[in-house]
Amino acid sequence: MGAEIAAAALLGALIGSFLNVVIHRLPRGDSVLTPGSRCPSCGEPLRAFDNVPVLSWLLLRGRCRSCGTRISARYPAVELLTATGFAVVVAVRGFDDGLWLELPFVACLIALAGIDLDHKLLPNKIVYPMAIYGLVASAVVDTGALPEHLLAGAGVLVFLLLAVLAYPSGMGMGDVKLGGTMGLYLGVSVVPALLTAFLTGTVFGFAVIAREGAQARKKAVPFGIFLAVGGLIGVLAGPELIDLYESNFLN
Ligand SMILES: [Zn+2]
Repeated sequence: MGAEIAAAALLGALIGSFLNVVIHRLPRGDSVLTPGSRCPSCGEPLRAFDNVPVLSWLLLRGRCRSCGTRISARYPAVELLTATGFAVVVAVRGFDDGLWLELPFVACLIALAGIDLDHKLLPNKIVYPMAIYGLVASAVVDTGALPEHLLAGAGVLVFLLLAVLAYPSGMGMGDVKLGGTMGLYLGVSVVPALLTAFLTGTVFGFAVIAREGAQARKKAVPFGIFLAVGGLIGVLAGPELIDLYESNFLN
């Protein structure tokens, strides 16, 4: 199992490197495939050995080799987060067909969280393909559970749509679509995922208000971040959280 976990971490680091490009370019309408990685400041193309996830950033001490401009620590952080996420998913959920759903799900959540943080936006260009892939992969990987996943997606879509109509300031349509998409991937585990999102969002909101006053709530972290956190919890611990609930409250 150790080899599978290490391979997942390596794959995650490489995917994380690509997610950095997606987070940086996709909201600007630039191609995420060409040109290759370059310094965000001087535009100098990165040589292969300057483009090794996490390591290059450390070796160059967070600066571009040509112009010396500081490169944000978020680049290695996204790579490290994706590597860790992939490794933990394999360690916890096992090395099986479920990874076809779980790993792309984690990667999309990290890209969306990064873009939402920067632009307060969950682009359809990611959410729509993510939803279609989730539907197809669910149907192929776990055909028997497809009705559950469809129901979870539709249920969350309706639930969040009503929430947005009732409190238009709290969430946007991007959150509604992402929530529904999460249901397609997670099935019934989307329930603990949503609870986690609302709980962390509320706790964070109160913390911001306590520290900076009610005005600060407007510039608070967008809800897509909390949906992403909830999605990760749903993947890693959803079935266990549901079991815990059932054994404590339903018997
Ligand atoms: Zn540069």
